[in-house]
Amino acid sequence: MSLDLRDRVRDVPDFPSPGIVFKDLMPLIADAEYFAETIRQLAAWARPRDPGFVLGAEARGFIFGGALAYELGAGFIPARKPGKLPRETIEATYELEYGTDSLQVHSDALSAGARVVIIDDVLATGGTARAKVELVESLGGVVAGLGFVIELTFLNGRERLEGYDTHALISY
Ligand code: AMP
Repeated sequence: MSLDLRDRVRDVPDFPSPGIVFKDLMPLIADAEYFAETIRQLAAWARPRDPGFVLGAEARGFIFGGALAYELGAGFIPARKPGKLPRETIEATYELEYGTDSLQVHSDALSAGARVVIIDDVLATGGTARAKVELVESLGGVVAGLGFVIELTFLNGRERLEGYDTHALISY
């Protein structure tokens, strides 16, 4: 039986602000079959890219990234909001609608040449994905690909990831 992942994506209008249609993936991860199918599809794409690590940012990147890393037999690297990681970190800053935000990883998270797949739930403007690319490359890692469950094509996030192997399971 083939599942249509869209059946477990809930549109929430005007969240977190007016005019935004939020793609809520909580129904998908709460459904055992759909969650497993999502991870299988991400793994089928990621496996040939031969990553030693999956990197994801809190919070939804941990859910998909952690499960994917397990499925691939890869390690998982958490990218976190400032102040959460206990040892020396490096940081990348990205733009939000109002102001900026940052993500950090431990400075010794990767060894040079390590192949890393970056995972997130939604590719929107591509700003946070770009910041994660910067983090991986600053540590000497190689971005083996960027995988997303959903791509919002009308926001052109892909343009900010030009030259990188970018894949989404579903697009709107
Ligand atoms: P981006 O604009 O690509 O940097 O996306 C920023 C973050 O916000 C990503 O981690 C997405 O998961 C999340 N995000 C952005 N737009 C949406 C949306 N319409 N629905 C759900 N999540 C979103």
